[in-house]
Amino acid sequence: MPFTSEVKDELARLKAPRRCCRMAELSALLRLEGSLHILGPHRVSLHTESENAAVARKMFALLKELFSLTPELRVERAPRLKGHNCYCLFLGESPQVVQVLNELSLLDDAMRPVMEVPTRLTRRQCCSASYLRGAFLGGGYVSRPESPAHLEINVRHPEMAEGLARLAERHGLDMHVARRKDLYSVYVKSRGEQADLLALMGAHRAVLRMQSDAVLREMRAGVNRRVNSETANLERAVDAAQRQLRDIRRIEETIGLEGLTPALREVAVIRLEHPEASMQELGAFMQPPLSKSAVHHRLLRIRRIAASL
Ligand SMILES: [Zn+2]
Repeated sequence: MPFTSEVKDELARLKAPRRCCRMAELSALLRLEGSLHILGPHRVSLHTESENAAVARKMFALLKELFSLTPELRVERAPRLKGHNCYCLFLGESPQVVQVLNELSLLDDAMRPVMEVPTRLTRRQCCSASYLRGAFLGGGYVSRPESPAHLEINVRHPEMAEGLARLAERHGLDMHVARRKDLYSVYVKSRGEQADLLALMGAHRAVLRMQSDAVLREMRAGVNRRVNSETANLERAVDAAQRQLRDIRRIEETIGLEGLTPALREVAVIRLEHPEASMQELGAFMQPPLSKSAVHHRLLRIRRIAASL
């Protein structure tokens, strides 16, 4: 399941304890998922379309418990959604529907659609967080924890986009607005702000998933760094052994190994016998055994002699 759907499922199941917050959330949801059909002064119907069944269920439940309205529910195959199911709610024209849309600040007192984020419903901090949750449920997208951070909410009107950014700002979050064809996108791009925004909306399981993913990635990077440095050490050791073998052969071909002192000759012979041994292993082959640094020291002297030939 895409991470966005996972987060939406989590948020849709969350029930705000206060009525004020549920009003704010429903207002944002209907704004983003719904379209109003205004046929006359007291003749307005509402139609919503969701790809996510949990989101549709949430709107249905909130309309019912806050206003005792029972919308008609239909599941349709939507060509727009590449044949995925579309969960549609219908509220037919009635004075009560007009009244509810006004209470939810989707229609102003003159029965005109409201474009901005309604101040009346988002004055409290608790409600502004709920409004953001509703907006995300309606038009949100969040990248997978393992991908570069990106969280956005897409809306149709610039006033709405600016309003959402201002709500986030009240919680210390810096959201940016960008125009995308016929939509406006409010977004954050840093991992920290993505996690803070998810936490603000109440998606705590999603935040935990982001964090455990970050810990795993950090651990994997640590293992890779260690393997890389071990590989580099090994490569250096192989290069050094090759050089020592070249030096020793050069001495053999010119003055002969007899030209070396017994101590140097011993180390040269053992290197020739064990071309792939580490310095430590070479030391262990000597009689009596030598430390790594003593072996290193003798090989340096061999190097100097070879260079002088
Ligand atoms: Zn509230």
